[in-house]
Amino acid sequence: MKRVILVGGGHAHLSVLDDLARNPLRTETPTEVLMITPEAFQWYSGMLPGLIAGHYRPTECRVDLLPLAKEAGINLILDSVIGINSNRQCICLSDGTHIKYDVLSIDVGSSTDTSWLSLSKQPVIPIKPLDNFIDRWNPFLDRAKTQGSYHIAVVGAGAAGIELALAARHALGNNSTHYKVSLIGTSSGLLPGHGKNVIRRIQTILDQSNISFSPHKATATDDGLLLSSGELLAPDCIFATTGGTAPDWLELSKLALDSSGFVAVDAYHRSISHKNVFAVGDVCARQDKYVARSGVHAVHAGPIIAHNIRSSIMECASKESSREKYALKEYNAKKRSLYLLSCGSRYGVVSWGGFSFSGAWVWKWKNRIDTNFIKRFSRINE
Ligand SMILES: Cc1cc2nc3c(=O)[nH]c(=O)nc-3n(C[C@H](O)[C@H](O)[C@H](O)COP(=O)(O)OP(=O)(O)OC[C@H]3O[C@@H](n4cnc5c(N)ncnc54)[C@H](O)[C@@H]3O)c2cc1C
Repeated sequence: MKRVILVGGGHAHLSVLDDLARNPLRTETPTEVLMITPEAFQWYSGMLPGLIAGHYRPTECRVDLLPLAKEAGINLILDSVIGINSNRQCICLSDGTHIKYDVLSIDVGSSTDTSWLSLSKQPVIPIKPLDNFIDRWNPFLDRAKTQGSYHIAVVGAGAAGIELALAARHALGNNSTHYKVSLIGTSSGLLPGHGKNVIRRIQTILDQSNISFSPHKATATDDGLLLSSGELLAPDCIFATTGGTAPDWLELSKLALDSSGFVAVDAYHRSISHKNVFAVGDVCARQDKYVARSGVHAVHAGPIIAHNIRSSIMECASKESSREKYALKEYNAKKRSLYLLSCGSRYGVVSWGGFSFSGAWVWKWKNRIDTNFIKRFSRINE
């Protein structure tokens, strides 16, 4: 019996489930595929700002993993992995269970780094894990509305921070003077890595939505958020959308990691140290070229990782005598990625290389792409 373990139900692994559901495995040696992920739902981050702004219901923004796994013939274990020993080909779950594998694929995303906000007296809500943020959003909104006046500071001015600040502002009322939303970045400014045109458009939209932007790094102190400019903010609550960190349990995994602790992979998304281990999405670091950590790449790499996992299974589950080599595919990230940013109301901004457009049509376009993504992986739960 061979065993393949998929760790995390992330954006890329959805494609692996879909691939196995559409084209069941036929191997010479019996093969078991397991997925280990803590929740039965995978939230789609692209729709989170629309959920916060009130355009979607929670059930519209997530994939139910159970029926998809069932159709794919995969056993779904709702638990978290807390350790991997890649030399012994074994993973450890939070309940202490150890499970051996022949092929492993890791798609567990990243966590929000809130270490420098740890002294905060105000509640700090990290954007990730998304389910945790979503659970806290409605009680938070109710409290803010009951209190009558409220100040949210969104720390992190990348795409996620901007979309979240605009969505929260929309939910509280763009023109309401009772509420204040501040967006705080670093000296890299708004949307680092995006073109000047899109940054200009976003700055205008932030101004129109009464969101102040400060390009000064914030550190939490006893008195509030101290910005590097010397300004002190005293928000009621801090939303953290600062960069992602790798899971700390990877440190002891014996897998080759990059200097920040992410799994070092080649163009096939295969570990550079262990050929039977793949990693994809935010948790990996490509060694052959720079690929940004974003949902776009996690989604686009999905069909490639599905092919590569299938090839690895076919190879290791064929009889010794008939064992053949199955070719792996490279994930070639496009030079320019298309980003569609939602801006609170049903209005969106396109960022594509140096080009930028905006309008209600962008939001409709994004809505169509996002709802089709959910539909593609939705199966009827019997
Ligand atoms: C508000 C917001 C908006 C965004 N908008 C965009 C956008 O418009 N475009 C874009 O390209 N990117 C966007 N991003 C970034 C995008 O969310 C991430 O890059 C993307 O989610 C990464 O996908 P992933 O598959 O690596 O991991 P995830 O989607 O985070 O999935 C990880 C999965 O692994 C599971 N897991 C975690 N730990 C464990 C464990 N120990 N054991 C087992 N399972 C585990 C989790 O429960 C989850 O199911 C946005 C992010 C946010 C927060």
